[in-house]
Amino acid sequence: MVNQIEKVNVIVAETVPEVAKSWTLEDSENLYRIQGWGEPYFSINSDGHVTVSPQGDRGGSLDLFELVESLKQRNIELPLLIRFSDILADRIERLNACFSKAIARYKYPNSYRGVFPIKCNQHRHLVEALVEYGKPYQFGLEAGSKPELIIALAALEPSQNVKNDDSQALLICNGYKDKDYIETALLATTLGHQPIIVIEQLSELHIILEISAKLNIEPVVGVRAKLRSKGIGRWGSSTGDRAKFGLTIPEIIEVVNTLKNAGKLSILQLLHFHIGSQISSISVIKEAIREASQIYCELVKLGANMNYLDVGGGLAVDYDGSKTNFYASKNYNMQNYANDIVAEVKEACEERNIAAPVLVSESGRAIASHQSVLIFNVLGNNNVSTSPPNSVPEKEHLVLRNLWETYQNIDPENYQEAYHDAIQFKEEAISLFNFGYLSLTERSRAEQLYWACCHKIREIIINQEYVPDDLEDLETIMSSIYYVNLSVFQSAPDFWAIDQLFPILPIHRLNEEPTERGILADLTCDSDGKLDKFIDLTDVKSFLELHSLNEKPYYLGMFLVGAYQEIMGNLHNLFGDTNVVHIQMTPKGPQIQYVVKGDTIQEVLGYVQYNPEDLLEKVRRRTEQAVQEHKITLEQSQLLLENYEKSLRSYTYLS
Ligand SMILES: *Cc1c(COP(=O)(O)O)cnc(C)c1O
Repeated sequence: MVNQIEKVNVIVAETVPEVAKSWTLEDSENLYRIQGWGEPYFSINSDGHVTVSPQGDRGGSLDLFELVESLKQRNIELPLLIRFSDILADRIERLNACFSKAIARYKYPNSYRGVFPIKCNQHRHLVEALVEYGKPYQFGLEAGSKPELIIALAALEPSQNVKNDDSQALLICNGYKDKDYIETALLATTLGHQPIIVIEQLSELHIILEISAKLNIEPVVGVRAKLRSKGIGRWGSSTGDRAKFGLTIPEIIEVVNTLKNAGKLSILQLLHFHIGSQISSISVIKEAIREASQIYCELVKLGANMNYLDVGGGLAVDYDGSKTNFYASKNYNMQNYANDIVAEVKEACEERNIAAPVLVSESGRAIASHQSVLIFNVLGNNNVSTSPPNSVPEKEHLVLRNLWETYQNIDPENYQEAYHDAIQFKEEAISLFNFGYLSLTERSRAEQLYWACCHKIREIIINQEYVPDDLEDLETIMSSIYYVNLSVFQSAPDFWAIDQLFPILPIHRLNEEPTERGILADLTCDSDGKLDKFIDLTDVKSFLELHSLNEKPYYLGMFLVGAYQEIMGNLHNLFGDTNVVHIQMTPKGPQIQYVVKGDTIQEVLGYVQYNPEDLLEKVRRRTEQAVQEHKITLEQSQLLLENYEKSLRSYTYLS
């Protein structure tokens, strides 16, 4: 501890004057709420760097800043997505441990067999690792489309004993299905897979019956119910009468009758529901389970050979670490979730005297989010200059003298009034300019004085407990823009599309006070391409505390980005996939498992049908012509072509 404090002081003394002396690592931890969202995987070490403990409290940890530096030495450039395989393993273990604890606690007379919804992150290395880590728990996969079924068939290892092997991972087949989908799923049974085809639409039932008769393969089917209990928030419409997916109760009854008439009621074995993703309130989950448990029991009474209750996804991630039912958080933990499911189902079944089902859940977000961290660098910032001129001469325009006087007289007694005066004089200056009464230089001085006023007022309110409402946005107005080497559209599409929050913070210099307030602007030429909402204990913050830039690189990390972001990311402005590195902990320390290079410029151009050879040939011909017409020297033409060729093979981001 002593060492740690000494070190902090040394660094601080060199770089930041006075006020920063008392800044501690704990201050950074509280400011960025690392414990709230990051436990047990992320924390800060005595060097002021973010550390990662991929195995939670049970294993070693690594210095994220040093890891990034060492990856850069291997020519793996930023922006860079780092996947920690051990975190993935830990999430799977945790989820299964929570369910087995709940099963023991409530003496639940059956088991839990989770599946991972592939749509959450389809990348091969991740799915392969997931299947591997999931083996001890018979952790299966959920496919929501034909391409995902294709992945699942190859990724899951079929069992040697064909047919209803309890030690076998499940393959839940959701989504809209055509004949090919159903045929493939049915045939997978013969390989030793355990597919369960979940009927989302009535029409699917007839195809299933037809194909299974033709192939002479007995299917296992489930029904997806539209529950009355609605999720809340963003995905609240995933269930309910008008939901896109699932069967209404009359439709479920129709399935039962059709199967009964065909003498096939025994194939109906699973009830599925999914009330939406990121369910932040445990009471919503409980209500849905209660409704689903009753439907399950009724299906048993109707004669179906029920064996599985699949509670879908929805297990939320605490992005802001507030442990509340705010949309970026959740008011329960994984153990509460498992307990409530197990207890509710047990109670319902016991009351009705019905055998308890195998419990299945399809948690995507809660399994995949934590394992990925996006690291990106700051390219520069646009600090507004807040220093006032030394003086304003008597002969200056009245509006400038007014601003100068306002500036000079700001004090803790009158700052609120002064703020409104400053705004008014600035507006006046702009009007005068627009009518030709103020020169460009004079307008520049007016704006400079206005910012000086804002700065001086901010210095006063920073130390005050109460800030009047009309001054609350001063911090936002004064925050600078940090230009960052990433595309929001590619790397954080949910931020842009649905206002999802992710924890963002510097991964080093956390022993220094972050004296700046900033928003982050990305590389795209789109005004939406920015990060300007950040996690906070209450509500959302409109700026992020950042360090002032020095000559050294400044790295930021965006955390909990392992679910949905990669596949939803798009090529806006042709910024492609980022580099990806898989890191695994070994007794000798962190080791690179895989490097997946991000898109090159020629690759993204290929997506929009450009052929690099043709492009190069065209430019080559034009340069040659220019050389002949003496518009360009031979050396210049060579340089242009070299750059052009090199660019085609290079990363789409700035180097
Ligand atoms: C998206 C989806 C999931 C995953 O939901 P999470 O909230 O990410 O756990 C599970 N099941 C179905 C049917 C889904 O569509």
